[in-house]
Amino acid sequence: MRKTRCFLIAAVMVAASAGAAAQNPRDGRYPATTGTIPPPVLGRQSVAPEWSGESGASGHPLMTAEAIRAAAANFRSCIERIWPLASRRGITRNVFATYTAQLTPDLRIMDLLDNQPEFTKSFWDYLDILVTPERIASGRALLEKYRTVFDTVEKAYGVDRYTVTAIWGVETNYGAIGGERPVIRSTATLACVGRRQTYFREEFLSALEILQRGDVRPDRLVGSWAGAFGPTQFMPTAFKRYAVDFDHDGRRDVVDSVPDLIASTANNLHKAGWVNGQTWGYEVVVPATFNFMLADHARMLPIREWEHQGLARPDGKPFPRPDDRAFLLVPAGVQGPGFLMLANFRAIMKYNPAEAYALAIGHLADRLRGAPPFVQPWPRYEHVLSRTERLELQQLLTRHGYDVGEPDGQFGAKTRAAIRDFQAKIGQVPDGFASAVVLERLRK
Ligand code: CA
Repeated sequence: MRKTRCFLIAAVMVAASAGAAAQNPRDGRYPATTGTIPPPVLGRQSVAPEWSGESGASGHPLMTAEAIRAAAANFRSCIERIWPLASRRGITRNVFATYTAQLTPDLRIMDLLDNQPEFTKSFWDYLDILVTPERIASGRALLEKYRTVFDTVEKAYGVDRYTVTAIWGVETNYGAIGGERPVIRSTATLACVGRRQTYFREEFLSALEILQRGDVRPDRLVGSWAGAFGPTQFMPTAFKRYAVDFDHDGRRDVVDSVPDLIASTANNLHKAGWVNGQTWGYEVVVPATFNFMLADHARMLPIREWEHQGLARPDGKPFPRPDDRAFLLVPAGVQGPGFLMLANFRAIMKYNPAEAYALAIGHLADRLRGAPPFVQPWPRYEHVLSRTERLELQQLLTRHGYDVGEPDGQFGAKTRAAIRDFQAKIGQVPDGFASAVVLERLRK
């Protein structure tokens, strides 16, 4: 789940920054259906760009141009090898044949699989792109329009309506940029070609199950290149776990039924550990003398203990619930704002495991609720490391003996902890921020 949600972010971010029309070309509707099983929705000509024909940037052996061509040539036999697995979970031969007979791989996805622009964006870029006056206004309009649905869903799942709406807004700009790729074709491609086949085989099988059950209309089971669909971008396996039929029409339609969509997203957060009545977190001022070694995901302390360490809200207001436990995130280091993150931030991270993304969701939720923008400035003058520089930084940290996992250019808690430790060793403020200065020092 983890990595894949990140792929979705890439799709959404690209769409959000470059304009939805450029990245998610609307390639028309599928033909009208007749009979009980609609015609295949697959193998259609797309106006999207073709595969570059180049090897992927990951360097993974299954991502070389030769490996991709070979896997594409074996696509039919790969799909047939999946049939017994589908049969075992109750997919009929008729349904399997209907949705796979004309299936061809969408190799353009291989370019997207190895290109993740979001990880070279700063936190402030994310917030600028995802939390805009337009998105706040649209979200408030939806909250008003579906007030009674939200009332009922909040009662049923105990999940804050503003957060559900913020996910809706951040994932697809409320359904405007969800992508138009048939989920069956995307997941089949990824199940047979490239470096994540085992993971996507399960997604492909789950997508077939959705079609067999008739939860989502076949022509509406479209989405991002990684197979996420609907306004809040459910992956097929997440759909299986969390989707609910809230309007009681017998179908769990997270694409076209607003009650199903809102309730299923709330149920996902509920199952991810959402604590009713708590917020996601607070912006805090971190004193320059603070011991930044304490800013670690693993260190959950009661807010009153953080207050003893000198942390305060920028407006000076008291924390409403000082016994709630939180960890401190300082995403841009000593020169940017700090955030105390409650259990609900972790629940949002389970929905979408990128910190910047989860922060955008939390912040958009606050803005929808009527809260003001963050108070403290971001260090916008800082050079944001490129993907290549990020990879290099992780490789250098590994060479210095740190465990940052497999260097992949994606920074998480491990990389930040390693940076903190290295900064402390060279006499810098150990704020964990991957600055150009840190990279320079590591190169020496
Ligand atoms: Ca329904």
